[in-house]
Order: sequence, then C-alpha cells, then structure tokens
Amino acid sequence: MSIDRRTFLGAAGLTALVVAGPASLARLARGGQAREAAGATRWAMVIDVRKCLKDQGCIDCIAACDKAHNVPRFTARAHEVKWIWKEPFESAFLDQGNPYTEEAFKGKPVLVLCNHCDNPPCVRVCPTKATWKRQDGIVMMDWHRCIGCKYCIVACPYGSRSFNFFDPRPRIKELNPDFPTRSLGVVEKCNFCEERLAVGKLPACVEACREKALVFGNLQDPKSEVRELLRTRFTIRRKPELGTDPRIYYLV
Ligand code: SF4
Repeated sequence: MSIDRRTFLGAAGLTALVVAGPASLARLARGGQAREAAGATRWAMVIDVRKCLKDQGCIDCIAACDKAHNVPRFTARAHEVKWIWKEPFESAFLDQGNPYTEEAFKGKPVLVLCNHCDNPPCVRVCPTKATWKRQDGIVMMDWHRCIGCKYCIVACPYGSRSFNFFDPRPRIKELNPDFPTRSLGVVEKCNFCEERLAVGKLPACVEACREKALVFGNLQDPKSEVRELLRTRFTIRRKPELGTDPRIYYLV
C-alpha cells in the first residue's frame, strides 16, 4: 500500500483539524503566517556527542525516523537511502583544527543528517525548484517535481541526499500510512519532521532519544534551549568554512 502526496496533504490537514479544532486551527494558521512573514522562527538542532556516545549501539533515533518517513532499507551501500545515520567522527568533521578533540573522538560514531543550511547549495542548483528553503529554515523536497538529475546530490557537501535507484516501496520495513512513499528515480532527505512540527510535535529522532542527546528548537527565540546551549557551551559544525551555514550544532 502507498499514499501519494496529494492524499497525504489532505490527511495531514484533516488530522490537524481534528487535533486543533476549527477555531484554534485558524489561529495557528494566522500565527504561522505571521511567523513566516516576520521570520520569527528558525529551526535548528543541537547534538550532544558525548551523551549520544553513551550507548554506541543505540539506533533509536534512526529507527524512529525510518519508521515515521517510510525510509527504505537497501543492503548495498551504493543504493542506501538515509535520512539520519552515523559516521566516524573524522569523516563527519574532516578538520576541526584541534588535534586533541580529534584524538578524543577518533573512530567514534557521530549522528549526521541534512544540516538545513541557511545558504544551501542544493537549492541553488535544482533546475525544477523541487527543493527549496522555507522561511523557518527547513530545506524541503517536492518529490513530484524532482526529475532525478542529481545536481543537488553533487552540490551537497555533506552527502545528506539519497537517490532511489530502485523502487523503494518493497524495501519499507513497516509502512506508515500517514507519510508518503517515494518512487524510483527521485532524491530524498531529512525534512526536520516538518509534518510533526505542523501539529506541535518534536522531530521523531528527538522524541526517541533516551539520552536526550538531541535538542531541537527555535534559534530566533533567545529563551529557547538551543539558544541557551549555544550561548553556554562550545559547539562545532560540519564544514562551516564552505559558507553553507549549517543549522546542526554539535556539543563536544
Ligand atoms: Fe542542502 Fe546538503 Fe545543506 Fe541539506 S546539508 S541543506 S542537502 S546542502
């Protein structure tokens, strides 16, 4: 069974209506428009690497994301589809310029995902506008507009995008009927759980983490937990020298 995008959007709207009620839904919509106009929301994530490393075998966040988004499992590395995954520290952070940090984390698995860059090169190269950045910073994908040219995959310096070389539907472990499946020949990646944010929920990976190693919030809100962490703790980002302005921060 699969669900197309139009059906999904209809179902998501209906769910929001049921959850919020007509009056509050209208208020939410007005609030959303106002926030978009004022640029009052800028979503970001902080990952506490040491907390995440407490159980290096834990993949709760990855499993929750895969389940929520119908991410298929392909065994061949060349055909893998990934929204959030782990990479050795030294490959995620090629050169931090601090040999002692590198020594401390060498070989350790670090969570990586789309950085929802403020200056995303993937968006600039897409010829069909199938990928774009929202006012709140989420870099989106419209799978119906994607023509599979793979320019965005080449442009992304983080390997955050995957291509469906085969029909992904038979490779979905447990189908979530509330989220659309993709098709052969399109690109996909993390969407910061925009469908969950729309109904007031946290991203699935953040909710699933037992160690509370993932913190998600609004960078524009000085009182948010992400701002507090960024103000008080030292963080690093992946390849900031490229000017992409990644919005995933790592506490080390
Ligand atoms: Fe685009 Fe890659 Fe940045 Fe995500 S991490 S916004 S896919 S350039």
